[in-house]
Amino acid sequence: MEVLITADQVRARVDEMAAEIMRAYDGKPVTVVGILTGCLIFTADLIRRIDLPLRVAFITASSYRGTTTVSGLLEIRDDLLPDIAGRHILLLDDILDTGKTLARVVAHLIDRGAASVKVGVLLRKLGRQEVPFEPDFVGFPIPDKFVIGYGLDFNDEYRHLPFIGVLQPGE
Ligand code: 5GP
Ligand code: MG
Ligand code: MG
Repeated sequence: MEVLITADQVRARVDEMAAEIMRAYDGKPVTVVGILTGCLIFTADLIRRIDLPLRVAFITASSYRGTTTVSGLLEIRDDLLPDIAGRHILLLDDILDTGKTLARVVAHLIDRGAASVKVGVLLRKLGRQEVPFEPDFVGFPIPDKFVIGYGLDFNDEYRHLPFIGVLQPGE
C-alpha cells in the first residue's frame, strides 16, 4: 500500500474546509447531505468542525451495472432524507471522478425544492471529468489512481483506514 495523503494531512485539510464552509454560509443554517457510503468518515469529521445551525441526512446513489442496454443510469434513493424544500444544501461525497454522480444528485436535490446546493468533495481526480460541473469545496486534487481509505472502498474493504492510499498490484 502506498500512502498518498497521510492522516495528518487529511485532518489539517478538513479543518481548513470547515473554515471555508463557515465563511461561505456566514451563519446561515445548512442541511448537509452525504452520499453513502463513501462520504461516511469525511462527513463525520467535517460536520464536527462546522459551527453553524446544521442538519445532516444521507442518500444513496448507485450506478446500474447489471444491464447491458442502459449505461450511465444512476439509482438515487432518498427515503431517509427529510423535507429539503427551501433549505440550503451542502452535498458531500468522497471523490469527484467523472462527475456523473454529483451532477445527477445536485439536479435531484434542486428538483426536490432545495433553495441552493453547494458541493464539497474530499478528493478530485484530475483528468477524469466527463460532465461540466464545478464543486464548491475540494480537499485535494489527486492523480488518476484508484484510491482507498477514509471512507473509500475496494469491494467494501479499507473504508476505515485513516489515510488515503493506493493499492499495489496483488494487494
Ligand atoms: P463519478 O460519478 O464522479 O464518476 O463517481 C464517483 C464515485 O465513484 C465515487 O463516489 C466513488 O464511490 C467511486 N470512485 C471513483 N473513483 C474512485 C477511487 O479512486 N476509489 C474508490 N474507492 N472509489 C472511487
Ligand atoms: Mg460514492
Ligand atoms: Mg465504492
